[in-house]
Amino acid sequence: MIKGTFPVERFKDIETPFYYYDTRVLRETLDTIREELRRNPEYEMHYAVKANANPKILRIISAAGLGADCVSGGEVRAAIEAGFPADKVVYAGVGKSDREINLALDYNIHCFNVESEAELLIINELAGLKNKTARIALRINPNVGAHTHSNITTGLAENKFGINLEQIESVIEQAIALPHIDFVGIHFHIGSQILDMIDFVALCNRINELTTLFERRRYPIRSINVGGGLGVDYGHPNHKYIPDFHSYFEVFRKHLRLIPGQTLHFELGRSVVAQCGSLITRVLYVKEGTCKRFAIVDAGMTDLIRPALYQAYHRIENISSDEPEVTYDVVGPVCESSDVFGKSIDLNATHRGDFIAIRSAGAYGEIMASQYNCRPLPKGYLNEELL
Ligand SMILES: *Cc1c(COP(=O)(O)O)cnc(C)c1O
Repeated sequence: MIKGTFPVERFKDIETPFYYYDTRVLRETLDTIREELRRNPEYEMHYAVKANANPKILRIISAAGLGADCVSGGEVRAAIEAGFPADKVVYAGVGKSDREINLALDYNIHCFNVESEAELLIINELAGLKNKTARIALRINPNVGAHTHSNITTGLAENKFGINLEQIESVIEQAIALPHIDFVGIHFHIGSQILDMIDFVALCNRINELTTLFERRRYPIRSINVGGGLGVDYGHPNHKYIPDFHSYFEVFRKHLRLIPGQTLHFELGRSVVAQCGSLITRVLYVKEGTCKRFAIVDAGMTDLIRPALYQAYHRIENISSDEPEVTYDVVGPVCESSDVFGKSIDLNATHRGDFIAIRSAGAYGEIMASQYNCRPLPKGYLNEELL
């Protein structure tokens, strides 16, 4: 999607800020993923719902045949209501409440990704009360780093996620022995916005070491889930909007040893939805500071928190102007100095009322919005609704 393709005329009737999703980009992304999966019948993709749970987006993804990866009872419900079959839903999270576990048991989801021995015992107990058996995989903390922002690294021993390598054998043995637990395999997730394939190679190597040991111990591993984390090119949403799925899957084809009958599960979130979404905002004021020129827009960190939370870069474009470029700090109205979308950004000369597109905002955008400052939550529109 390039600058000229935004339906700016249609935006004039819509209250800003709002999320605009180009379903052509989403569908092309899903087609690319499906093409890769077709070559490997033992691969299964569960879209990570936490990246974007807009019901219209979820419906398109479920219709493409993907499963869902959830991290809360609310996400399990949202996924099922959006048409994901329960037997393709997996559910991770370090702090599953009894109510959430019961909900997932009632839906008969495919698998709980269990993150501690204590949680395993509770799932066994709650499943027993319902006379059910819960399918579970154990999430292992592989102690593999990822070259990404420290807030989105999850696979190091110091992170709260998963069961550590020293304890894993005893927890597997318990899982096999518990009466209301069906142990199906192992799960990993090392972080997000990972662009260096070396990190996924390191994960594969660690998994191979573990599965070699587990085979010796005769632990039955039917499935391996390698989580998500593939990054996107925030610098080039116009020309490199399809993430490099081929290289990603190639890493697992080349480096991960599967034994016949094992399935390999993936949980991509960001790379599925990031590039189809833009946050559309209007310029309220252009303010000349003493050493800066500010474009003050009506979207804030409450609508898109990634720049404030992770110092994340998003490409910013003035989609109303073709005038020569001028340099601005693009800032929101929220009473926080971190409410900045970009510093020293070159935009076509900008005036009150212009539409600004903050690009690659389809993942961890709308879903992370808050009402801080009593601001309303942004709405999301698909391109096909605005024809
Ligand atoms: C967040 C998360 C994902 C998705 O990560 P992306 O970087 O968006 O691909 C996958 N699995 C688990 C367990 C997660 O918490």
